[in-house]
Amino acid sequence: MDETRAFDQLWVWRKPRLARALAWYREVACDRMPAKFRIAVTIPADLDPDTADEDALLAELRRLTPVFLERRDAIRRGAVALAAPAAGPSLLEVCVALARRMLTRCTFCRWECRVDRSRPSKLGACKLERTSRVSCAFHHQGEELVLRGLEGSGTIFFTSCNMRCAFCQNGDISTDKDNGEPLGARELAALAWLLRKEGCHNINWVGGEPSIHLHTILEAIGLLGRGFTPGEAELRRIGPVLADRYGWYEPRAERGRYAGAFNAPILWNTNLYLTDPVMELLRVVVDVWLPDFKFGPGRCAVRLARTPRYFETVTHCLARLAAWGEDVLVRHLVMPEHVDCCTRPVLAWLAAHLPEAPVNIMDQYRPDMFADPRSPRFRPEYREIARRPSARELDAAYAWARQLGLCFEEVSFEKSRLFA
Ligand code: SF4
Repeated sequence: MDETRAFDQLWVWRKPRLARALAWYREVACDRMPAKFRIAVTIPADLDPDTADEDALLAELRRLTPVFLERRDAIRRGAVALAAPAAGPSLLEVCVALARRMLTRCTFCRWECRVDRSRPSKLGACKLERTSRVSCAFHHQGEELVLRGLEGSGTIFFTSCNMRCAFCQNGDISTDKDNGEPLGARELAALAWLLRKEGCHNINWVGGEPSIHLHTILEAIGLLGRGFTPGEAELRRIGPVLADRYGWYEPRAERGRYAGAFNAPILWNTNLYLTDPVMELLRVVVDVWLPDFKFGPGRCAVRLARTPRYFETVTHCLARLAAWGEDVLVRHLVMPEHVDCCTRPVLAWLAAHLPEAPVNIMDQYRPDMFADPRSPRFRPEYREIARRPSARELDAAYAWARQLGLCFEEVSFEKSRLFA
């Protein structure tokens, strides 16, 4: 049995709620449907993306999005076949150009710093200029079964973040903006291409936060939509970030193809601290969303992650995903002493607004960085989260999720159950 068929037959897909919630993603992962970027590139744009300004590009994105949705729906129903890429600029190039323009007054995330990252004299909250750096790329075998499947989730791990979680378990990557290798769009496209050809079930853009690298990622996806195949030079340049054992996975040309060209589900692994235009941009390229939803509506996000307006921003973005009918898998990390103030309101909000989305209620919190009592960086103000969550706290979280009727057990408890 090949890996696509094996993925398609995983026991999790026999769970009706999970299969319904992630139906589009599964079809794209199995190459029975084209990824959204493959559809976006077939829709002609009515302006020149190289010369149009930000307002014109945003207006064009909004004009073309209903066309895109109609086309995707028709393809999904089997009413039309995927067309060839547009001869001139397409919706996909509009997205690429819009992100490039936005970089000059950056509003990629809710900090809305409006700094010019293309000619930085002043940096925003993420401390990034235009360069994107990748810490590593690999077949991630630790993601949820629907994502890791048998061959792994094709993870591209960016440095830096726009949040400041005191307990971050990737603190060396998320807080050190000079970590990793600077890679351009061609190298990112080469990474995505290679991971998919090696059998990964999706391309998992993650950090830190991928959205703060939106311009480079969209440019890479734009290349993939136009038939990019990496050459020797790109493959050589991505070598230092490939973290899998050399030779362990063998790329095969026939993998990840739809209608004769490259195909892969785009997975956005995000804190969802995003602005409306970025959500709209991502809507036409992201096949499956993997948002974190950590903090409740009180002051916990400010105190523990120095992030203002967290709850209102994340719920606003999640409500948009619900209204758009997107494939979403939400993650919630149970933290010690934060079941009442965070876990309960987060899960209650999900039950009220995204009741069918699978939720991974995660038990793996461990204190790190400023919350690690064994570290010289430990700060006493984080004492309350300087331990793992207790069994009582985890049980309370699960009991609450059960009471709310959330779809969580299949994705929260499946690690020991690959075949069933
Ligand atoms: S990505 Fe966010 S934090 Fe970084 S400069 Fe842009 S708006 Fe500011």
